[in-house]
Amino acid sequence: MTSSNIRLYNSLTRTIEPFVPQTPGEVRMYVCGVTVYDDCHLGHARSQMVFDTLHRLFLETGHRVRYVRNITDIDDKIIRKAREAGRPISEITGRYIDSFHRDMVRLGILSPMAEPRATEFLSGMITLIERLLSVGAAYPSGGDVYFRVRRFPGYGELSHQVLADLLAGARIEPGEEKEDPLDFVLWKGAKEGEPSYPSPFGEGRPGWHIECSAMSLHYLGPTLDLHGGGLDLLFPHHENERAQSEAATGVTFSRMWVHNGFVTTRETKMSKSLGNTRQIRNFFEESPYPEEVTREWLRYFFLSTHYRSPVDFTDQALASAKLALDGLYQCLALLSEAEETRQGAEDDAWEFRRAFMEALSADLDTPVALSVLHAAKSRINPWLASGRLGRAPADPGAVRALFELAGRTMGVLRVDPSRWVTGLREAGSKGPSGLTEEEISHLVILREEARKNRDFSKADAIRDRLKESGIVLEDQPGGPPRIRRI
Ligand SMILES: [Zn+2]
Repeated sequence: MTSSNIRLYNSLTRTIEPFVPQTPGEVRMYVCGVTVYDDCHLGHARSQMVFDTLHRLFLETGHRVRYVRNITDIDDKIIRKAREAGRPISEITGRYIDSFHRDMVRLGILSPMAEPRATEFLSGMITLIERLLSVGAAYPSGGDVYFRVRRFPGYGELSHQVLADLLAGARIEPGEEKEDPLDFVLWKGAKEGEPSYPSPFGEGRPGWHIECSAMSLHYLGPTLDLHGGGLDLLFPHHENERAQSEAATGVTFSRMWVHNGFVTTRETKMSKSLGNTRQIRNFFEESPYPEEVTREWLRYFFLSTHYRSPVDFTDQALASAKLALDGLYQCLALLSEAEETRQGAEDDAWEFRRAFMEALSADLDTPVALSVLHAAKSRINPWLASGRLGRAPADPGAVRALFELAGRTMGVLRVDPSRWVTGLREAGSKGPSGLTEEEISHLVILREEARKNRDFSKADAIRDRLKESGIVLEDQPGGPPRIRRI
């Protein structure tokens, strides 16, 4: 099955468009990777999870996915870090490439088809720069080579900026000999004490942007089906990649551009320069749960917000995500005890799958997809909790299949449910509220069910019980309540 109904928001056109790959059933996808000079933070984790979910969705809909993600292992920040540490560059990059790979395992990210490193790809970059020079889109100057922005008429289209505005913000740095402040560097001439490589333009090293254009051309051809990355890469990085690729090949560089939103703390963007980052490694090491539980907790947390919206990283939002996931696991644990025989409505399996896949296909609407899991849980929970009396309100096998589908596409609900629930009991030391996490989770679920059954006096009684223990529930439309501790 290769037909799919996937629609995605294209940053270039600013509309949601059907995703139609050049070759039916095959996806050429390129996502900008990391610059290896430090441990990755949760902003990187979110971006990787978003594109991993997209990767998984393409696989689930029967596509062959040719996914390339680069590693930038030569860059000003790396050179500075090596100098500060008094260590060789290769030692610094080796350490942080290992750290990045360890993080990808922690997060459960599927491996790309190729993961080229800039320093192993110099000849491809040099060939591309030579091509740009030959068509007049680039020029050598003062030992560097620059891209001539005004030779590419579409410059600014991707980030929706006009040249006049860009020019107002552009400047020529000391030591740069550019024709125009808008021009950007393709090859940097060698400087004293910095690593350099031979090239027809003299000793030096590549600029950052040229790396992605050269690698994507090599592995995926001149036209990508999808180019992705964080919103911070839209300008100048992606604008420059597009300009130099299209100037060299004369064809569309990417049919679709997908960007994920930022991770914020107290509504301020998480970034290294602001000093408010939290590393993936630290999050896992400080988590009270085993790695496989922490992985799903973080995935659930990020995927419960649409990928284009900012995510505010707060303890309350994390606690709500854990409770919501616990609720699904409690249902899954009871389901595992249910017999394998088919019960309930015949077409449940189709209905659940259709609703879930439709949500993911509609611009990767993971919050709606998660709400499908909760709707299925709420439908079957009273029957499971009552000892499976009478006819099941939904086919248990269909709910199980839905949860497995969530595992394949979103990377959640993959832990053995009895282990997850046992872990909850073991972790059940009572917090300041006098209630264990499991007890709180159970009360929240009971209250949700009472509300659904319009038994408001029971729902209010549970809410009051929680409030006595210092836990306030704030109801949110279309999802589990937000939990605030007072
Ligand atoms: Zn890139």
